[in-house]
Amino acid sequence: MSRFVCWVALFFGILGLIGWVEAGDEVTSRVGRLADEVTGDVLRWRRDFHAHPELSNREERTSRVVAELLRQFGVDSLKTGVAGHGVVALIHGRQPGPCVALRADMDALPIQERSGVPFASQNAGVMHACGHDAHMAMLLGAAKVLVQMRDALPGTVKLIFQPAEEGPPRGEQGGAKLMIDEGVLEDPRVSAIFGMHVSTDLDCGKLGYRFGALLAAVDRFRVTVRGKQSHAATPWKGVDPIVGTAHIISAVQTIASRRVDARQPVVVSFGMVHGGQAWNIIPERVELEGTIRTHDVEVRRLAVAQFHRIVRETAGALGCQVEIQWDDYGPVVWNDPDLGQRMLPSLARAAGQGNVVESPPVMGGEDFAHYARKVPGFFIFLGVRNEMAGAIHPLHTPQMRIDEAALPLGVRTHCLLAIDCLKQEAGRVSRAAEE
Ligand SMILES: [Zn+2]
Repeated sequence: MSRFVCWVALFFGILGLIGWVEAGDEVTSRVGRLADEVTGDVLRWRRDFHAHPELSNREERTSRVVAELLRQFGVDSLKTGVAGHGVVALIHGRQPGPCVALRADMDALPIQERSGVPFASQNAGVMHACGHDAHMAMLLGAAKVLVQMRDALPGTVKLIFQPAEEGPPRGEQGGAKLMIDEGVLEDPRVSAIFGMHVSTDLDCGKLGYRFGALLAAVDRFRVTVRGKQSHAATPWKGVDPIVGTAHIISAVQTIASRRVDARQPVVVSFGMVHGGQAWNIIPERVELEGTIRTHDVEVRRLAVAQFHRIVRETAGALGCQVEIQWDDYGPVVWNDPDLGQRMLPSLARAAGQGNVVESPPVMGGEDFAHYARKVPGFFIFLGVRNEMAGAIHPLHTPQMRIDEAALPLGVRTHCLLAIDCLKQEAGRVSRAAEE
């Protein structure tokens, strides 16, 4: 008798499994078909954003275009003006259920474009050199697909278009932190969030993932070194902040080379050094700006403390005064291992089994980190590298290009992450209710 029950259970179990796999396959092929249909639009939107880039917290046109398209697709709710120019939309499935979020960033960089593409930036000195144009276009593509798949959504998809990812201008607020303060993770409450970034290190057609720390914690500093102005011919009558600065810049290199455990990643970089007006005057002061990148809380604490100490004491030894301003841009982008593990099959279905690869840790930062501290998050890389397409230059450079052939994979990935995660979350909720 019991053996009979076992066989019956096994038989129905296998039937169920086949049914589930078929349902999964059906969703995959439907997503693929609808994503193909929007590919022309996605390319057009991406090129339009690319030609009209806007700096952090200045994404007025971008925001208008995004909102207008979402309205056309018929999303169920649309909020504009979130944290500046942010746009948040909801797509409700046929059945009620939990809510998962997909996030794209909107801002461009202060770079004069030299990529040579025919749809290059029309705004002098501003360029989408970090791929946020592609991020928005892919999320819009996903939105257009998902509004046609409400029957496959056991819950709600929240689409987050976030401004100022590169950091708001000094003295302003903005980015992920402000979006969270303005309630983007609430109403309805988000139970998981996904983000995607183009990668020029990863071949087109591949997706990169990593559990735990993926991107670095970012500290941004500004140092003012003050001396006493004098004639360049009589330096002993003043205090030279340029020589002081030279020693400071050299001395802080010892943080990475002498203080932090060599097996732990850390970077200390200066991006701006400004001082002086004339060749024969020792100036009053020099301004420095730069960043510290780390992957570990303890290493971060040590590097920051050591930076303060070296800067103050080196300046003091040379008779200069210093002021240090600190900006905690964001913590490590932490990928929830449990969520990531559960979503790996979705990545494989979007990209094909051999095209999902583990990514090494990266020293770049992303303010997605703030969301992933509040709710389980999973941030992945979309490969856009292709030598034949000239897409080999790194992000944040004037020559940066992407292979647009990657964009349909981004659309499929967004859709499958949202659909599969909602199914899993809905399953967890109903199991918890039964218990
Ligand atoms: Zn970016």
